[in-house]
Amino acid sequence: MSFDYDLFVIGGGSGGVRAARVAAGEAGAKVGLAEESRYGGTCVIRGCVPKKLMVYASTYAQAMKQAALYGWEVKAGVFDWASFREKLEGELDRLEGIYRQLLENADVDTFDCRATVAGINEVQLADGRKVTAKTILVATGGWPVVPNIPGAQHVITSNEIFHLNTLPKRMLIVGGGYVACEFAGIMNGLGVETHLWYRGNQILRGFDGEARELIAQGMLDRGVQLMTETNVTKIIKTDDCVEVTGSQGQVQSFDVVMYATGRAPNSANLGLEALGIELDSKGAVNVDQYSATAVSSIYAIGDVTNRVNLTPVAIREGMAFVQTAILGNPTSIDHELIPSAVFTQPEYGTIGLSEEDASKQEPIEIFATSFRPMNTSFIGDSDKVLMKLVVSKATRKVLGCHIVADGAGEMIQMAGIAVKMGATKEEFDRVCAVHPTMAEELVTMKSPVRTT
Ligand code: NDP
Repeated sequence: MSFDYDLFVIGGGSGGVRAARVAAGEAGAKVGLAEESRYGGTCVIRGCVPKKLMVYASTYAQAMKQAALYGWEVKAGVFDWASFREKLEGELDRLEGIYRQLLENADVDTFDCRATVAGINEVQLADGRKVTAKTILVATGGWPVVPNIPGAQHVITSNEIFHLNTLPKRMLIVGGGYVACEFAGIMNGLGVETHLWYRGNQILRGFDGEARELIAQGMLDRGVQLMTETNVTKIIKTDDCVEVTGSQGQVQSFDVVMYATGRAPNSANLGLEALGIELDSKGAVNVDQYSATAVSSIYAIGDVTNRVNLTPVAIREGMAFVQTAILGNPTSIDHELIPSAVFTQPEYGTIGLSEEDASKQEPIEIFATSFRPMNTSFIGDSDKVLMKLVVSKATRKVLGCHIVADGAGEMIQMAGIAVKMGATKEEFDRVCAVHPTMAEELVTMKSPVRTT
C-alpha cells in the first residue's frame, strides 16, 4: 500500500521538529508535519527560552546593587517592560524562523493548521485535507491547567505572561512547582511586588529538602512574599484589580494573578481513543519504552506522554523514535538520572535522588556544605549556597547531587556526567579542586554530615 508520507508528525515543538527533520534529513523519509500554533512549541515560544531571557532581565537590579557595593558608580533606572517585550518578540520570531528553515532544509512538508488522527494511517487536517502516512507521530505537548475555582476566568497562566501590556504593580502567583517558583523570582527581580501562595508546607515538592529550604529562604530574602499552606478559594474581578480570597481567610488585591498549577498533556480530541489508544487519568498517551502506542503505526513522544516533561528528553525521545520506527533499529529511551535546573533565584541544579528518597532506598551518607560565596560575602550579603552529595554506603556511588548557587544549572550539567557514569564519592575526591570556585566543594568534602 502506498502512502502520501512515510511519516506524519502532529506538533511542531522540540520533539516533533527534531523527529521530523532527522527522519527526513538523515533517514531519507518523506515527512509531513502539522502545527496549529507557532513552530518551536512550548520551549521556544512560551516556555524555556522566553523564561530564561526574563530571568536574565530580572537579575540586573541585584547586579547593579552589587556593582555599587563593589565600588562602581551606578545609577539604576527603572525596567522598561515594553522595550524588553519588543526585543523578546523579535527574538522569538527569529527562533521560530530557524525552526521553519530547518524543516524546509530537510524537505519536510509543513501544514500550518491543526491535525488529528483519522485512522491508523490517516491524518485529518483542519483545512479539510486528508493525508495518509505509514507512521504517525503525536508530539502535541502539554498545556497549563487552572483548577476550577470561582473566578478562574480572571487569571493568566505562563502562556500569557510574556504578552502583558504593562508590568503589574502587585502580582500573585499560585503554585509551588518549577513555573511558579521561577516566575516568582523573575517578577520580583523586575520590581513587581510578588506574592507566591503554595498549598503545601514547602515549595518544590519532590526535590531535596535541604535545597528547597535554602531556595525558599533565598526567595524570601530577595523580597518574594511567600505564603505556604495557602490556597485560593475565590477570585473576583473589580474595576481596577483582582481580589483574591485565600484559604486562611485573607482577602488581598492584585493587578495580575498567575496560576502555575501544573500542565496537562495535549491529547483531547486528537482521535486517539477511537482507535483504541489509551489515555491515562491525566490524559497522557500510553506508550511503551519505544514510544509506541497500542496501534503499531502510531507513536507519541514528549509532554503528551507525561513521562519526564523536559525539552531535552522530548528531543531524545524523538531521535529514538526515528531509530525505532523509521530505521528499524528498536531504541528505547533512558529516563534514569536526568539532570535538570530550576531557574529560581537562587538557582537549583539537581540530578538523581534527594536525601529523602535515597534514605528510603538504602543506607546513605550525606556530604553537604552551605556557605556564603566569595563574590557576595565580600559585599556583606548573607546569601548562602549549597553543595550536596547523596552517597550510597554500600556502593559508594553518588546517588544524587544538589547545587543551589548562581550558575547551578551550568554546574549540574558537568557533575551530571560523573553521576550518570556511576562515579563514587572517592572518584569525585580524586579530582583536583578548581580554586577559588564554589563547585570545588564537590570534591573537597571530607566527612559525611549525616548518615542514615
Ligand atoms: P509542577 O507540576 O512542577 O507544579 C505544579 C504546582 O502546582 C505544584 O506546586 C502543585 O502543588 C500545585 N498545584 C497543583 N494543583 C493545584 C491546585 N489545584 N491548587 C493549588 N495548587 C496546585 O508544574 P509546573 O506548571 O510548575 O511545571 C510543569 C512542568 O514543566 C514541570 O513538571 C517540568 O517538567 C516542566 N518545566 C521545567 C522547567 C525547567 O526545567 N526549568 C521550567 C518550567 C517547567 P503540590 O506540590 O502540592 O502538588
